[in-house]
Amino acid sequence: MKYIGPHVSASGGVENAPENAHQLGATAFALFTKNQKQWVAAPLTEKSINEFKARCQKYGYSPDHILPHDSYLINLGHPEEEGLSKSRAAFIDEMQRCEQLGLNRLNFHPGSHLNKISEEDCLKRIAESINIALDKTKGVSAVIENTAGQGTNLGFRFEHLATIIEHVDDKSRVGVCLDTAHTLAAGYEFRTEEDFKETFTNFEAIVGFKYLKGMHINDSKKDVGTRVDRHDSIGKGVIGESPFGFIINDPRFDNMPLILETPDESIWAEEIKLLYSLTNSPINV
Ligand SMILES: [Zn+2]
Ligand SMILES: [Zn+2]
Repeated sequence: MKYIGPHVSASGGVENAPENAHQLGATAFALFTKNQKQWVAAPLTEKSINEFKARCQKYGYSPDHILPHDSYLINLGHPEEEGLSKSRAAFIDEMQRCEQLGLNRLNFHPGSHLNKISEEDCLKRIAESINIALDKTKGVSAVIENTAGQGTNLGFRFEHLATIIEHVDDKSRVGVCLDTAHTLAAGYEFRTEEDFKETFTNFEAIVGFKYLKGMHINDSKKDVGTRVDRHDSIGKGVIGESPFGFIINDPRFDNMPLILETPDESIWAEEIKLLYSLTNSPINV
């Protein structure tokens, strides 16, 4: 079974996110558990936590189908001590918020070397940041998102994800999330059935589907290998509708949050329906 929904607003409190998702007919959702553009946020109140859990139960959202996203300010591979310790503290806070909400995974962008340290050093720093956060929390997995490779962001090669995982001590609590727009922009072609098979055979060999804890389902305004991160609505960008059908009909993407981060929220409900409608065109992968 496929679980699909957008990254919904949690404005006014995290407890509003399940309500917002339900209104769109979503079976999964993503959210920020704090303002994503600020370093520090007030702790979650007992009331917010209880209402969030009660509403998830009421609308049938299991933690396995909810994919919180961390703040954009955090850089777990920061080359400098001050930026690194600030990022690590903020990431631990985000992991703890997920734990309080009864969630089991936190999606984040791995980090950037800012041209000050090598790729290898940066990837090891990211893994060490994950180790520190896992040590201070329980039950929440750190889910590394692949990136488009814009600027000095790492995580655009499957090998980067594999290197980070290799250096994480508790492999039962680390995972990955593939963003379709980032995957294409990073240079992985998957728009024909043949390319889809090849790219995901590579993913299985280099990272492994056992680590896949979610997907971001976005069309892209930028073409393969451009290393530019610009999402588009499903079927309106350079990916087009049919490659999303490969995912929808592939059991390797079952039972995980498939999250829309598409730009036009007025059509999110339609996009969910559109994705489910693609189940009628099965292919063999
Ligand atoms: Zn992201
Ligand atoms: Zn994404």
